[in-house]
Amino acid sequence: MPYKKYMFFILLTFIISLAIFSKTNAMINELPLLGRIVFVDPGHGGRDPGTMYKNLMEKDIVLDISLKLRDTLMEKGAIVYMTRDEDEDLSSRWDERKKRGDLYRRLLMYKDVPTEVYLSIHINNDNESSSHGAEVLYHPINKENERLAKILMKNFENDLKTSRVIKKTDLYMYRNTTIPGVLIECGFLSNSNERYLLQRESYQKKLASSITNSVIEFFN
Ligand SMILES: [Zn+2]
Repeated sequence: MPYKKYMFFILLTFIISLAIFSKTNAMINELPLLGRIVFVDPGHGGRDPGTMYKNLMEKDIVLDISLKLRDTLMEKGAIVYMTRDEDEDLSSRWDERKKRGDLYRRLLMYKDVPTEVYLSIHINNDNESSSHGAEVLYHPINKENERLAKILMKNFENDLKTSRVIKKTDLYMYRNTTIPGVLIECGFLSNSNERYLLQRESYQKKLASSITNSVIEFFN
């Protein structure tokens, strides 16, 4: 091969490699959760409304937020599974203890796939109507849970301008969650301002993007 032609091929190979490299880099930047498996669990559903205020039910609000969360996670490249994407509970007609049956099946569902992060989405309630703010609870069964909880809480403080302390929980669901996973209480239905915000699409999207950014930070 003549020298000039030889140089041309080397140059061409170099340019193509550079293009593939920068394209891959751009993809990684745009899709920071590429291939990551996240399980989103909207609490309650079906016969179990969760906490309520008049006709407003936790099961409906957490489903709205979780569907938005699924979309924002997928936009960043994650593979997202959900315990439910409609108004249903997971108990069986044969379960003597319906709630336990429901929770048990949620556990089975996310253990059935190689879940890397489990996010349980709920809404809070308090006798004190001034209580407000998004809150994160974790069980120390996995040492990564506290780190995930801290990242989430820090981003909630920045994005939602609310401030609460991280708490530990010993609820059945979380003491059996061995992979990194936390309980996210998105706000209080018992607080009038937050009750209004939690129903708004813009606030639900804000919550979804704050949680998504926290998941990205967690994997980094
Ligand atoms: Zn709940």
